[in-house]
Amino acid sequence: MEIKKVRGFQDIYGDNAKKYRFIVETAREVFEKYNFQEIILPYVEDVSLFIRSVGEMTDIVQKEMYVFEDRGGRRVALRPEGTASAVRAFIEERMYAKGGYHKLFYEGAMFRYERPQAGRYRQFHQIGAEIFGVDSPLSDAELIKMVKDILDRLGIEARLEINTLGDFESRKRYMDALREYLKKTKDTLCDICKTRVKTNPLRVLDCKVEQCKQSTEDAPKITDFLPEERIERYVKLKEYLKALGIDFIENPRLVRGLDYYTDTVFEFITEKIGAQGTVAAGGRYDKLVEQLGGPPTPALGFAAGIERLMLLIDKVPSENLLTVVIPLTDEFNLTALKLSSLMRERGMKTELLLKAGSLKSKMKLANRFGARFVVFVSERPELKDMETGEQEVFETAEDIVDVLEKRVLV
Ligand code: ATP
Ligand code: MG
Repeated sequence: MEIKKVRGFQDIYGDNAKKYRFIVETAREVFEKYNFQEIILPYVEDVSLFIRSVGEMTDIVQKEMYVFEDRGGRRVALRPEGTASAVRAFIEERMYAKGGYHKLFYEGAMFRYERPQAGRYRQFHQIGAEIFGVDSPLSDAELIKMVKDILDRLGIEARLEINTLGDFESRKRYMDALREYLKKTKDTLCDICKTRVKTNPLRVLDCKVEQCKQSTEDAPKITDFLPEERIERYVKLKEYLKALGIDFIENPRLVRGLDYYTDTVFEFITEKIGAQGTVAAGGRYDKLVEQLGGPPTPALGFAAGIERLMLLIDKVPSENLLTVVIPLTDEFNLTALKLSSLMRERGMKTELLLKAGSLKSKMKLANRFGARFVVFVSERPELKDMETGEQEVFETAEDIVDVLEKRVLV
């Protein structure tokens, strides 16, 4: 019997793999410009890392995590997100000991046992970045601008929504008020939200169910519960964003699904890919480092889902044109082999046709590869332009390389 991939998991190949690479490479270039350093984090972590960071009452920890016991009896989890691991590494590797501040980026797979649908998988991939050791709203503005730069370079339009959650203390007061409000409207909430009123009332504001959206329309607003200095910080951030020419919408309902956020939270959202419209999201988590056993360190970060970005990209920018080298008969295999490797050394994208057969079958393959040029290797090698149909005969294979080079490299 044929073995199938596991539900919620995907093979990324062909044009999708190209899009995937294009996104990662574009993001890397932008990270590089902003002087972020890469960190390659483990896929498996002690399960308590996520319980203590993401939060016990979150969907991720309650029902989405891949948790198992390894052969040594350790309770481990496949990472559901990157920030917790980055914070763990920041503490464990004593990065803070160097002083100053630290800017890290990462890329790779995340795992969440969610209901699979378009733009939602059980293994998905993120690019993300974190800044440790700065509390200035300058860093919030820079991070948001960096995400915007990545989206711009990918040709993706998304609206930016921002909010502030303030400090834990005033948020607690807000949550109490919100809870009181929600108790009154409880009957109109969806079943999941009914339980959230007690465990995680903020999450009700984030519920995608229409009736929940409606019944929380007049809910108290977090900004009314924050002390002056948190508001001032928010005002400063908005000023910086305006100065950078970044449009944004203030959304007082934006709360994010993880417990560790403080002050700034933001999302880049699009309507073009259905309900799963958040393509990048992040915020500040000033208490998390301390909470996980490190020194008090203000921090912030973002993550973007690569699969959702892929849905928004039509085409990757043009690549070098392909030339297919066809030995007319086996007798010319060696010449074709040498020619192909010379072409690749000169930077040309080259397919040496590896399968024997009739010329017709070879041409069929060349077309399937998307050949822009074909070189027929025989005593007198020939070059065919597949677009114009023009054919030229050359003295030696090397002569072809000189001519082709100018035509195929973009
Ligand atoms: P959502 O509200 O869409 O579930 P989230 O708040 O759970 O998102 P984060 O944990 O902030 O998402 O992750 C950041 C980004 O990672 C999301 O904006 C999205 O682009 C992507 N992402 C999250 N979960 C998935 C998933 N199961 N499949 C694909 N992409 C995902
Ligand atoms: Mg989610």
